[in-house]
Amino acid sequence: MYLKQIVAFDNSSLSQLLLHTLAILSIRAVLRAQIKRRIMSVRLDVMPPLSFPRSVLVETTLRCPADCIFCPNKKISGRPIDMPWELFIKIVDDCRGKGVAGFHPFINGEPLASPCLEDALAYISRTLPEAAIHIYTNGYLLDDSTTEMLLRYNVCEVHFSIDGFSKQVYEQHRRGLIYERVIANVKGFLAHLENHTVKVGTRVVFTMTPDNEGEVPAFRQFWEGLVDTVDILPCDGRGGEGRLPAFKDAQKLGCFQATESTYILSDGSVVACCKDWAGYTVLGDVNINSLQSIWNSTEYRSLRDDISRGILSSCEVCRRCVSDSL
Ligand code: SF4
Ligand code: SF4
Repeated sequence: MYLKQIVAFDNSSLSQLLLHTLAILSIRAVLRAQIKRRIMSVRLDVMPPLSFPRSVLVETTLRCPADCIFCPNKKISGRPIDMPWELFIKIVDDCRGKGVAGFHPFINGEPLASPCLEDALAYISRTLPEAAIHIYTNGYLLDDSTTEMLLRYNVCEVHFSIDGFSKQVYEQHRRGLIYERVIANVKGFLAHLENHTVKVGTRVVFTMTPDNEGEVPAFRQFWEGLVDTVDILPCDGRGGEGRLPAFKDAQKLGCFQATESTYILSDGSVVACCKDWAGYTVLGDVNINSLQSIWNSTEYRSLRDDISRGILSSCEVCRRCVSDSL
């Protein structure tokens, strides 16, 4: 019946019908987009703001035996190489009873190089028994003794940063480290886990650049089955200030949970994101104020609110990050 009617139309009626249909479809698309935006904004309005960060990342040390080609670590100056112990204690104490789900004693350095790591792990696990401790390491300093230390303090997950499958490509990226030693150390850690009664998550993280992209399939094949998770992440450009620009679809990584996590540099400066390694937008100083009061300051709240709405112009490092990622 409907077909018969169309056949009966002349050409101009048919064009009008097509135009009409296209108009309806585009109006529907606009309405759908408006509804989606509305739902998103309602969700943001009804979600109660967190009164304390769920994850706390602390730059316990800037020491690192490596000089990775994408890392700004060696460009950092003007703050202590190791976070003063009293400051670390204060931060952990500030988190007591606040429901912190994850504690990461790491931002811009190798945590196993910290002379205080064991004391730090002991203090975190004693003071924040509910918090999962995450360790990110290049694996170079991992040995039986450091492995046993990590297991003794019940770390929840260990992330190994390994950016190549071949020795040549790995050492080109992780300058200063020796491929065979790192792989042997990580395998030694995994062997320890076989006799460990508590589950410890394991993850290898491959930062993808134009020079190691070709090794991704072999890397995956090697590590899948050995560790719980294999992450291939495009180099994010460190907010436009790293040594390498962002690669490929790094912008799809999105924000690093800036609305749920807080980042504290070794001098006590609080920043919104790990990409702010230089401390461009300092939101407070935990030497002076409590972490809770800094997290709930007007400036920090409005920055989180902006970030969650996709407004990324109010923070210098976000502006760099976005321009870098586009
Ligand atoms: S990426 Fe990690 S291992 Fe490499 S230089 Fe930076 S802190 Fe060190
Ligand atoms: S936009 Fe800002 S908060 Fe998000 S990842 Fe980039 S620097 Fe971090």
